[in-house]
Amino acid sequence: MKIRAKTMEHLQLEALLPRLHPTHKKWSEVESHLLRHSAGHFGETTADVYLQYLSHDRYHILQDLRLFDGIRHFQIDALILAPSFILILEIKNLRGKLIFDLEHHQLLRTYQKKQDIFPDPFLQVKHQTLQLTRWMQAFQLPETPIHSFIIIANPNTTIKTQGRDMQQLKRRIIRPKLLYSEVEKLHARSGPPIWTPDQIKHAAVTLQRENTPFTASILQRFDLTAADLVMGVRCTKCEVFGMERKRAHWYCPQCEHKSENAHLDTLRDYQLLVGNEISNQEFRSFACLSSEKVARTLLSECCTRYAGKTSDRKYILNIVK
Ligand SMILES: [Zn+2]
Repeated sequence: MKIRAKTMEHLQLEALLPRLHPTHKKWSEVESHLLRHSAGHFGETTADVYLQYLSHDRYHILQDLRLFDGIRHFQIDALILAPSFILILEIKNLRGKLIFDLEHHQLLRTYQKKQDIFPDPFLQVKHQTLQLTRWMQAFQLPETPIHSFIIIANPNTTIKTQGRDMQQLKRRIIRPKLLYSEVEKLHARSGPPIWTPDQIKHAAVTLQRENTPFTASILQRFDLTAADLVMGVRCTKCEVFGMERKRAHWYCPQCEHKSENAHLDTLRDYQLLVGNEISNQEFRSFACLSSEKVARTLLSECCTRYAGKTSDRKYILNIVK
């Protein structure tokens, strides 16, 4: 099991925010999305650390799944396949004081004297369970009990519950450090194996194959076009846009830093924000570069594949894999 990579959407948001002018009307909306993704990623990797201790012979762990149940896509932070059960993990990384209102199905959070209300994670995993059941039926996988835990990743978060706990939900709110022992407890309480090791492997392969990460255009999502973006090559040292191309390097007029390959970050941004294909003209306007010849040299150096004839050639970017 590996510590998960950032999702495509997370990388896109990281590329997008610096390329929006701070006065742009979408800036704070994009920033709040990015903050949420960063916190989510941090929480998930924290949980991953403790999941590594589970026996790889008994359990198969899958991260960041996005599956289609026949009606809608659904997303699962982590899924554990065990011989006699399946476990869904919903990972929250919220700071402050959390109150799970078990009677009214909401999650209240107090942080820096501000109160926010979030959707009830228990309703969320309940629906995920339904969706996963539909999905498993469609792929003719054996009927298996599906359990779920809510993981509160931040150790400094205070957790409380209120309302009557009719369904013993409280026991399913777990700190990452308890993951190992709670999974083992579930295993000990579960009945005889439903899945053979081969069936678990087969299910894992099917889940991985059917996983469809979110790939929609981030610009479209925020109702932006390339015209909203700050153009130019960003200084790799002071992070200001506007590096100038000199004979064999990029030069930053702000901090006088020199770089040979600052344009690679620019092309990476282009790939994340606009698409995998770029023409000489598109590169020159995105990087604020005037020389067609220099653009051609730089693109040929980093792109091994292209499509089309010389005049309207599109270089295939493969910087973000
Ligand atoms: Zn600089």
